[in-house]
Amino acid sequence: MLKGIAASAGVATAKAYKLVSPVVVIEKKTDVNAADEVAKLESALAKTITDIEGVKERAAKRLAPEELEVFDAHLMMANDPELVGQMKAMIENDGVNAEYAADQVSNMMVSMFEAMDNPYFKERAADVKDVTYRLKCNLLGLTIPDLSAIDEPTIIVAHDLTPSDTAQLNEFVKGFVTEIGGKTSHSAIMANSLEIPAVVGTGGVLAEVNTGDVIGMDALDGEVFINPDEATIARLAEKEKAYKEEKAALKTLINAKSITTDDHEVELAGNIGSVKDAEQVVANGGEGVGLFRTEFLYMDNDHFPTEEEQFEVYKAVLETLKGKKVVVRTLDIGGDKKLSYFEFPEEMNPFLGYRAIRLCLNRTDIFKTQLRALCRASVYGKLCIMFPMIATINEFKAAKSLFEECKAELLAEGVAVSDDIQVGMMVEIPAAAVLADEFSKYADFFSIGTNDLIQYSMAADRMSQKVSYLYQPYNPAILRLVNMTIQGAHKNGKWVGMCGAMAGEPYAVPILLGLGLDEFSMSATQILKARKVVNGLSYAEMQELAKKCLSMDTAEEVLDYVKSQVD
Ligand code: PEP
Ligand code: MG
Repeated sequence: MLKGIAASAGVATAKAYKLVSPVVVIEKKTDVNAADEVAKLESALAKTITDIEGVKERAAKRLAPEELEVFDAHLMMANDPELVGQMKAMIENDGVNAEYAADQVSNMMVSMFEAMDNPYFKERAADVKDVTYRLKCNLLGLTIPDLSAIDEPTIIVAHDLTPSDTAQLNEFVKGFVTEIGGKTSHSAIMANSLEIPAVVGTGGVLAEVNTGDVIGMDALDGEVFINPDEATIARLAEKEKAYKEEKAALKTLINAKSITTDDHEVELAGNIGSVKDAEQVVANGGEGVGLFRTEFLYMDNDHFPTEEEQFEVYKAVLETLKGKKVVVRTLDIGGDKKLSYFEFPEEMNPFLGYRAIRLCLNRTDIFKTQLRALCRASVYGKLCIMFPMIATINEFKAAKSLFEECKAELLAEGVAVSDDIQVGMMVEIPAAAVLADEFSKYADFFSIGTNDLIQYSMAADRMSQKVSYLYQPYNPAILRLVNMTIQGAHKNGKWVGMCGAMAGEPYAVPILLGLGLDEFSMSATQILKARKVVNGLSYAEMQELAKKCLSMDTAEEVLDYVKSQVD
């Protein structure tokens, strides 16, 4: 058995297909005729373009249009005169062979993209590798295996899967195991959207497996069994059946209410970073969007997105939610989230520094562009705006008045703006939690960001492995801050959500419910599970449970107690 990272849930057993991509060995030659080499390059490039078009066509049978965008990016790259121009120039100036020029130029571009801070550009490195690998194979007459030809139940075992590999997976592919990659790698994301199990980061698997071996994969626990015995096959089959049954049972809750056995109703919403995520929230029965992290719009870009660019995205998200509430968080940049086109000051503690609302209140030009785009989009659905990292009442008032200013400007320009936009704030700094009853006089709602609230309360950097034991959502100190926030909001008739990771934890849901949380926002795939939990609980009993938790000493005590009550 080999251990990997469970990247897309599921269990499967099938024959292995070991994906061995041809090894490209590049020789440098100088005794060549430049005109012949340029002609060779052009014909290999033409074949590369035809190949990508073919892959895209086959992938279109299984993937949604936006998932095919990767191929458009590849085609654009293959057609980019800059890329081929550099290769030709190298052949002509240095008198080298086409393979060598293609390899050199591709390596240069890959390192250039990989060196960038911006995750969007870092990802482009994978695209350059994918396209130029195909080009080099074509130059060398090597054939890339055609995964779309698989016609019996198969588990693919590979070092890694490129975007074009994953896009070719057909219904016979029951799952895949790769040697490298993490939960957010491209192949993991694709596996989730295809709903096939994937275990990634399984070091050494290629050396252990041959095509035709039987593979049992448990992508719930990240385990890969090679030629498992009868007992293991039977155990995996049981687990697969139970998993599929649970998934099917959860699907029946898509249109159900999130309501306790004694009729206390709450709202289960989704966290998103894009229009595509919003579609996932709807598909998973979300009752709204509780957090739209707009920083991705800025990070996946090479310039500050314009008012028009932002407007289009906000409008699309609001329309996708069809009148259900959408909470958009204004730009939360800084800390670990940097932009390639904006210089942040050097600081000792960026997490405690110039970020989020602090930056927006200083750079009102950037902030107002976003607020104007939001106001314009507000007529397409039910918009709520919230400010991140609010520490003081004055910050909230200043941000809110810039919103009012944008709204008034637009109305004066004759542009329609909804008169029903709620303006609230994240509670993720302890000072805001402690003063929640005062903040709630001004804010229309709160959303508790436990990822930061815990980091700041425990003084434990959320990026540091060494102190990760202090990430303690069940610590009574955190529960009391959450309680204070909810009490403070309700005192002034305001609603409270939570959009930090704690909101989706099955054992936290009973406590939060008992504390009176109104809205829980989590990743789309957690919503139905949370609904099942809520539907099985009594609000009156959870109020008692929550009260007990608030008076306990440790996180362990709280967690053990909740488990003993709800399992
Ligand atoms: C949080 O801090 O809990 C939160 C939801 O925001 P982010 O994780 O984006 O900082
Ligand atoms: Mg935060």
